[in-house]
Amino acid sequence: MSPTAARITAVDTHDIRFPTSRELDGSDAMNPDPDYSAAYVVLRTDAADGIEGHGFSFTIGRGNDVQVAAIDALRAHVVGRSVGELCADPGTLFRDLIGDSQLRWLGPEKGVMHMAIGAVVNAVWDLAAKRAAKPLWQFLADAEPAWLVDQIDFRYITDALTPEEALELLRRGRRGAAERAARLREKGFPAYTTSPGWLGYDDEKLTRLATQAVADGFTQIKLKVGADLADDTRRCRVARSAVGPGIRIAIDANQRWNVAEAITWTKALAEFDPYWIEEPTSPDDILGHAAVRRAVAPVKVATGEHVQNRIVFKQLLQAGAIDILQIDAARVGGVNENLAILLLAAKFGVPVCPHAGGVGLCELVQHLSMFDFVALSGTTDDRVIEYVDHLHDHFLDPVVIREGHYTAPAAPGFSATMRPESIARYTYPGGTFWAADLAQQKGEAA
Ligand SMILES: [Mg+2]
Repeated sequence: MSPTAARITAVDTHDIRFPTSRELDGSDAMNPDPDYSAAYVVLRTDAADGIEGHGFSFTIGRGNDVQVAAIDALRAHVVGRSVGELCADPGTLFRDLIGDSQLRWLGPEKGVMHMAIGAVVNAVWDLAAKRAAKPLWQFLADAEPAWLVDQIDFRYITDALTPEEALELLRRGRRGAAERAARLREKGFPAYTTSPGWLGYDDEKLTRLATQAVADGFTQIKLKVGADLADDTRRCRVARSAVGPGIRIAIDANQRWNVAEAITWTKALAEFDPYWIEEPTSPDDILGHAAVRRAVAPVKVATGEHVQNRIVFKQLLQAGAIDILQIDAARVGGVNENLAILLLAAKFGVPVCPHAGGVGLCELVQHLSMFDFVALSGTTDDRVIEYVDHLHDHFLDPVVIREGHYTAPAAPGFSATMRPESIARYTYPGGTFWAADLAQQKGEAA
């Protein structure tokens, strides 16, 4: 069969959950017991190369089945499509998915349905990059600026960024790209680590992990805050004395506060020189973030992991509400929408420091930052990708951290492919881990 005749033959979905809540990994002031989960999607084709496209939404446990159902609802848009056409223009599918008028009612362009679109669209980009035999960051960096502009839906954002401006930013970004790609392959992209700072860890574990982070070459760590001010004050003091004055400490409240509370709490922790306060309040509260930013400077304000689409990011930038923009690879409508968000950030001159961690988010989002460095913003100054050191071994092409930097992926694709044995073990509720676990719980209850 000729490659152009190949079609998408199946959209397989999997409900995969990891029992992370048992170690308090990932615990914060809003999310005390997350079981990091993936609503996982595999696009299969009848092409002779056997290449699949993999993608996923990230959730934290219950509700992962709802997320899987949302992906299932998109299946009819994908099965039967020409693989060649899909990979030559993922934007067409993106527009069709956000334009399904009945499903659009469930958003529009926000929430479970939009995250499902992101998972499917990202799987298409994984397929396209694999077929081009390039890691996604390079696939994007090598793409023609005009083609990248065509991948973006400018509806609702032209008051802040026009296609012409986007084209100019991308053309400018191309100058010197080859040298930056070489530098990226040699040095990697700066990372910071959240591993020391989970709320459920005691002071001894915090000290040990913070000290280790500095020894490992990280120049920034992050602490979860927002449950109890006395605890936060003590933990910030412990962390600051462990890392010394030269290391940046970001703090993250995970939306715990009202605006006034965010201001007083952040100011109370200012003596420990926090670099940014992350998610001080609701991710939908644009003017609230602007008020917090005005009040807590020089502490910077960061948000984005729960910002649901390009329109809210546009307003955060227009309102001068953030110093740091935190894209997430699996929250919005996939690569196409993240291209729009990266371009908005570039237009407003706001550094992008992606949210990652969870399961697989580091694997995905590194590609977007690396593209941003090589072919758009052209710098890594004040740019760091979040890193959390768990669940990477479930992926075929896991992230590699060296001297506090993400190593540039060399394998083709979006680094999204999970090991088949991990899928079999952690599928909920029928996988081997959960079947045994649920049987044991049943036995204890009896
Ligand atoms: Mg966060």
